[in-house]
Amino acid sequence: MSSILGFPRIGKNRELKKALESFWGEKCSQSELEDVAKTLRAKHWEAQKELSHVCVNDFSLYDNVLDLAYALSCKPARFKHLSGLEGYFAMARGHKDGVACEMTKWFNTNYHYVVPELSIDDEYKADASGIIAQYNEAKSLGFSPKIQLLGVFTFFALSKINKGAPQAVFDKIKSAYFDLISQIAKVDSEVLIEFSEPIFAKGFDASLFGLECKEASSAIECVYNDIASKGIKAIVSTFFEHSNELTAILLRTNIYGIGLDFVAGEKNIQSLEAIAKSDKVLYAGVIDGRNIWVADLESKLALLDSIHKFIPKERIVVSASCSLLHVPFSKDGEEKIESEILSWLSFATDKIKEICALESIFQGRGDDGFLQENKRINLSRKNSDKTNNKAVRERVKNYTQKSRAESFQERIKIQKASFNFPILPTTTIGSFPQTAQIRKLRLEYKKGEVSKAEYEEGIKDYIRDCVKFQEEIGIDVLVHGEPERNDMVEYFGEQLEGFTFSANAWVQSYGSRCVKPPIIFGDIHRPKPMTIDWISFAQSLTNKVMKGMLTGPVTILNWSFVRDDLSRSAVCEQIALCIADEIDDLQKAGIKIIQVDEAAFKEGYPLRAENIKAYEEWALACFKTSTAISWAQTQIHTHMCYSDFNDIIKTIEALDADVISIETARSGNKLLKIFKEVGYTHEVGPGVYDIHSPRIPSVEELEKQIKALLEVLPKEQLWINPDCGLKTRKWEEVKPSLANIVQAVKKVRASL
Ligand code: GLN
Ligand code: ZN
Repeated sequence: MSSILGFPRIGKNRELKKALESFWGEKCSQSELEDVAKTLRAKHWEAQKELSHVCVNDFSLYDNVLDLAYALSCKPARFKHLSGLEGYFAMARGHKDGVACEMTKWFNTNYHYVVPELSIDDEYKADASGIIAQYNEAKSLGFSPKIQLLGVFTFFALSKINKGAPQAVFDKIKSAYFDLISQIAKVDSEVLIEFSEPIFAKGFDASLFGLECKEASSAIECVYNDIASKGIKAIVSTFFEHSNELTAILLRTNIYGIGLDFVAGEKNIQSLEAIAKSDKVLYAGVIDGRNIWVADLESKLALLDSIHKFIPKERIVVSASCSLLHVPFSKDGEEKIESEILSWLSFATDKIKEICALESIFQGRGDDGFLQENKRINLSRKNSDKTNNKAVRERVKNYTQKSRAESFQERIKIQKASFNFPILPTTTIGSFPQTAQIRKLRLEYKKGEVSKAEYEEGIKDYIRDCVKFQEEIGIDVLVHGEPERNDMVEYFGEQLEGFTFSANAWVQSYGSRCVKPPIIFGDIHRPKPMTIDWISFAQSLTNKVMKGMLTGPVTILNWSFVRDDLSRSAVCEQIALCIADEIDDLQKAGIKIIQVDEAAFKEGYPLRAENIKAYEEWALACFKTSTAISWAQTQIHTHMCYSDFNDIIKTIEALDADVISIETARSGNKLLKIFKEVGYTHEVGPGVYDIHSPRIPSVEELEKQIKALLEVLPKEQLWINPDCGLKTRKWEEVKPSLANIVQAVKKVRASL
């Protein structure tokens, strides 16, 4: 038997995105949108037909957490009066009657789900008609369906409780959920349902379910026993880590199968003995659902054999490690990636082929041709000089400058004397509005429709305007505005060796939004400087300090598809040296302040507490390596798009950046207190203007906000800046807002 836990739903050519956006723009009807969805489902099942079952209910018009919330009628009060797709999209995207539900990261992936809002005052009522319709749709097309359903524990743990005691709210949700299952159970005898419980991979944390420890373990047992007793075949699957603590509990239930991730959760091996003693079928996630590299089938066979030492073959289902949602659809028609590199890649449709071939070889039905070809591909990758660059490896090995020579105390003295900024210096996070005109210019240049000279003149014009504006309003540390950058990672990836970019390898980030992560396939080095020309040009226009703008190594890594034949830390070290070289070139070119953005530093944190230390160690070391080369008088800024540093403040301090700018406008200064509590010594720039809203903050309210900051941190330690993301706003909004910030700062300075 062979299986996956879900298939990408956006469509090979992002058909769903296009249909959704045209529906939202009132350019197509609901029935046209539903037709597109139906056609896509049929295509996606067709791609899965070699598997034992096709996945049903993994498809979604926006998000599968939202789907379940909607099927249980978990609608926040502000949307109660809305129904159908209007209510559904209101929760996802907001509506004139209320703001959208929050959205947040799906575990440690770059997929974002809509956070359900629960309240004890709500009445929940299950409606499985949508799920049943898709089930019947698959059957009528001749497929054998397996329903994918989010487990009730994960659903509850990911929800936000607006009102009520957690346990009481959980009971309400649970009974609606049971009703949903009862409705589904009626559709067929022995309906196969795979329940995803990734929350179980975080370890046993009963508080996630609002329960005491002992109660939680018996609650899990009871819930899955009740579900199994409804006459369905239930599989409970976890992924993204091992779930040994919870596997032990699940084995005490009457479920049919258990799904485990043996790629990201190698330690699941420890549960095999116990599983062997049970009667459960093991859905063995051995093909990586998160990454895009051709599997090494020989080593996968060895893994399956080691599982088989415990469990008989007829109880092993060869599976993907998690839903294939996180990988692109297929390689068909990909014309941008070099053919040799393309041959090393495996997208969703290829992964299904790998799973089927692996299963047939494992079960002794053989597919020698496939295996031989797989061997050849892996060998070509291993031996290619594209993946191995001796000089890079040597340099990383011998590089010794891993932290700055002077202490922060020494550096800041030198820096303060040389810059002589007023107290509460002002700056911005880097980008300025990306106008339609600048986007068009970049695109036309890329397509070869405008000349290099014309392109450069256009970029220079933008920088000139940008510098002039900042000088006019009186900002202290200027930026060039990043008009030449489409994306903060792509811009650097495109200039570094070891990266490649696809034309069509999109993955869903949320709703209709997709990203095309850079692909790191080989050893990384910097053939030439990446930012010096633009930053030097910008500096030449002003006597004020121009801040150089780089993306940090950890963020470049966390937002890319990373090669799996080298550790993430080793890849990150290679990137760190490229950034170090860039910093050195910038300071030699006269740039005195350099910002190294680590927007995605926190995103790389492992799911399990026990792995955090190791991540922090190497991520920290890489950031420090990238900045160690800076002279004492070169001021290093960093930026993170968060405000919640409670857990990681010590690591943030250890980064040893002279200044960190963070996002705080929406959370006020309550999260800032941690900086004071731990006696944080380096300088901090908390965002005072919430750029997520088109609203222009007044001088008075900004003044108040700045004064509130001063209650938490001393004036010598504070910078004043907006939150990040000015590039997403319009000039009409940015200009008055920043002018007001500078005015507010001047007033506060005068009052001190
Ligand atoms: N320098 C980048 C900018 O301002 C930082 C982006 C980010 O933090 N996500 O656009
Ligand atoms: Zn940011």
